[in-house]
Amino acid sequence: MSATDAADTTIRPDTTIRADTTDAAGTALGPRFREALAEAALVHQHQRRKGSDTPYVSHLLAVTALVLEHGGDEDQAIAALFHDAVEDQDLALDDLAARYGERVAMIVGACTDTLTDTAERGAATWRARKERYIAHLGEASPDVLLVSASDKVHNARAILVDVRAAGMTAFSRFNAGPDELRWYYRSLVEIFGDRFPGPLTDELSQTVAEIEAFVDDAALTRRHDMSAIVDDVQVKPGTPSRLLERDPAAKLGVGDKEAGAARLAERIVELSDLQNRLWAESSRSVLLVLQGLDASGKDGTIRSVFTGVNPQGTQVTSFKVPTTTELAHDFLWRVHAACPARGEIGIFNRSHYEDLVTVYVKEIGGRRDRSWWKARVRAINEFERALSAEGTTILKVFLHVSKDEQGKRFHERMTDPHKAWKFRMGDLDDRKIFEAFMAGYDRAITETSTVLAPWHVVPADRNWMRNLAVAELLVEAVRKLDPQLPPPPVELANGALVIP
Ligand code: AMP
Ligand code: MG
Repeated sequence: MSATDAADTTIRPDTTIRADTTDAAGTALGPRFREALAEAALVHQHQRRKGSDTPYVSHLLAVTALVLEHGGDEDQAIAALFHDAVEDQDLALDDLAARYGERVAMIVGACTDTLTDTAERGAATWRARKERYIAHLGEASPDVLLVSASDKVHNARAILVDVRAAGMTAFSRFNAGPDELRWYYRSLVEIFGDRFPGPLTDELSQTVAEIEAFVDDAALTRRHDMSAIVDDVQVKPGTPSRLLERDPAAKLGVGDKEAGAARLAERIVELSDLQNRLWAESSRSVLLVLQGLDASGKDGTIRSVFTGVNPQGTQVTSFKVPTTTELAHDFLWRVHAACPARGEIGIFNRSHYEDLVTVYVKEIGGRRDRSWWKARVRAINEFERALSAEGTTILKVFLHVSKDEQGKRFHERMTDPHKAWKFRMGDLDDRKIFEAFMAGYDRAITETSTVLAPWHVVPADRNWMRNLAVAELLVEAVRKLDPQLPPPPVELANGALVIP
């Protein structure tokens, strides 16, 4: 940076620019305003609006426009231009006061919800900061309220535009979730309604109501759509699985791949937040059991559904043919050891159901008979009941692929050099007894779909349908747990902490 540039980006506290022409109403904009306009653009030159490419100055200009449209004077317009500069760009209030006068600095200071003291900044939680800001609006002067209301109107409009364009994923750019933002904007509408009634507050109130209507609508549609899938794929405890009657290519009312992908993107965002809370709460766990024949897409499901999830707090276990040591123990030994700890989401890529179905199917007419089968079913149901009693939510998913589709995928594995590594000679032997496997799973699923650990048969011929269904099952399961972030220490919630 050259010396001239540096001089340009700093505010010169020694030069105070006074208004030269002010009419009776004090609304004429003079050289101070023009200077402030250029300076604000400079101070924020490298900043963008959260989650978008829009230059930050657009927000400052919009807020300034609202202030002027609603009768603001030059000081208020200048304060609007700088209202985020203290918080975001470390501009000192004293410099602002020296350059543009005490009143501008006072308004900017009052519009800043983060403490100006660097030591205190960031120490309070989002909620505590907003609570303080709202409380503070209860005492603020009308000077301040005009600028603050203009700021909130423009922010609310931006949220509404984003939510219309991107749906609920629009909220992912904020530090706070949709519920917390809703609380914040509702509180703002109330306090402005009390203290600053007028067209600007009406505008805020209408915009917030529109956002709320959109969110409520989305929640309704979402609940309806999600429960439709969850309902379709669940095997009701005590009823036959009807595996062979289910369509592996079903779309479950989703429409097409694009619609499925858009919905999956939303679930991934939700899952990320839910998993974070589950992990923070650290008292309960979720176990996703993925079963399915070769090439049914178990690996792809894990890759796709868990893309947004923090690896810390999840654990994937792939169960292969048991080792000698594993075979020397009871069949649940290796399984129990891999179960998720409190706070974790555990994923079983194959599971103890191999010890039931695979072992049985491969040895039909051999050592495994009806009583062996029944004993294992009992052991599994008991085991899952015990896990669930200790706080594990169990979600069992059978990825249902057709024999045709499996054939196609095998062909791809045999011919595509990038997929060839997945090909196993043994897969062809298993395919020869595809029907026996399906009969085995049909029976196993019927006999082990329990209230505490129900099975879900997910159509897996279409990857997008399979990924979406598993994501929705998981979101629904964790959402029901409603995991809570542990409360911060009281001192922090009070917002009175100072970092030494
Ligand atoms: P993959 O998951 O395709 O890499 O292959 C793992 C193989 O291990 C599959 O053929 C499974 O059927 C087999 N397998 C996993 N667990 C068991 C088990 N407990 N008993 C017998 N075979 C198993
Ligand atoms: Mg395989």
